[in-house]
Amino acid sequence: MQRSSERPADVASDTPSSLACPTCATPFDGPYCHQCGERKLRPGEFSFWFWLRALIARFTQLDGPFAKATISLFARPGSLTTDYFRGKRIPYARPIQYFLVANVIFFVVGAWLGIDTLSTPLRSHLRSRPSFHAQDARSWVENRLGTTLKDLEARGANDELTRSFLALSDRFDVLGDSLSRTLVFSLVPMFFAASFFLTRLTKSNRRRLVSEHFVSSLHFVGYFLLAQVLLFALFIGVGGIAEAFGTRAVRAFLLHDRALGPALAAFLVWYGYGAAQRFHGFGRPGAIVMALTLLPVSFGALTIYRSLLFYVTQWQFA
Ligand SMILES: [Zn+2]
Repeated sequence: MQRSSERPADVASDTPSSLACPTCATPFDGPYCHQCGERKLRPGEFSFWFWLRALIARFTQLDGPFAKATISLFARPGSLTTDYFRGKRIPYARPIQYFLVANVIFFVVGAWLGIDTLSTPLRSHLRSRPSFHAQDARSWVENRLGTTLKDLEARGANDELTRSFLALSDRFDVLGDSLSRTLVFSLVPMFFAASFFLTRLTKSNRRRLVSEHFVSSLHFVGYFLLAQVLLFALFIGVGGIAEAFGTRAVRAFLLHDRALGPALAAFLVWYGYGAAQRFHGFGRPGAIVMALTLLPVSFGALTIYRSLLFYVTQWQFA
């Protein structure tokens, strides 16, 4: 009551939403409320095209918060996390928002590029090594089909059992693919635990708060997902150019674990080295150790993730 009586007479005749903050009723002075930070709505804001353009711009603009966070993660690993806890937050997408968008990009663009590191088909579960579950996967298939895998391999492509195996793996893989979109979240607590316990082993002045380890692992998993998209896109591009010049071998070489594995490892070492210095405050020798430790840690996390995916898929399988 007090507030509205203080307003100038001409204010009441105008649309109140454009003049006073709808959240705290403070009159707007500029595009943002200086009391609570609410943004003033712009004319045409509710049209679908306005909304769509704003959304696309948000994630594609080179000076937008998502791109800025991505550039920071790849060019100076560890500084995005450090900036966040220094209070420099406006230029970048927020950690959880960034993580969710990285996921969407990984699953949408990644599926289009043919990345299957997280969806893991049944065939890979049966063969994967080292793994906690390959034996269980083999037993599951053998029980389901009432035969041994050896017997199955000996049969031809037109055999009835071979076809039921293919039908089984198709159904399993569709379910596994959809479950992987949720189970990818399990990587965050895994890297959180690794970051937390690894730094517990070192001097106390390098310790970080629980929330810092959490944001650090959100950033890292986002980087891990986008690094794969970047690598695949790059290798497919290079392979495509080589193919245009008549060399098919380059593409076949690049899009194989023997090239993708080491390339991804290089991305991980790069991140580990930077984050160990900028976020954990290690010196050069400590950073090298941390960077190299990130490789077995990531490999271990992926192995645990794959086992988890297998057991959850098997459990959900009708
Ligand atoms: Zn306000």
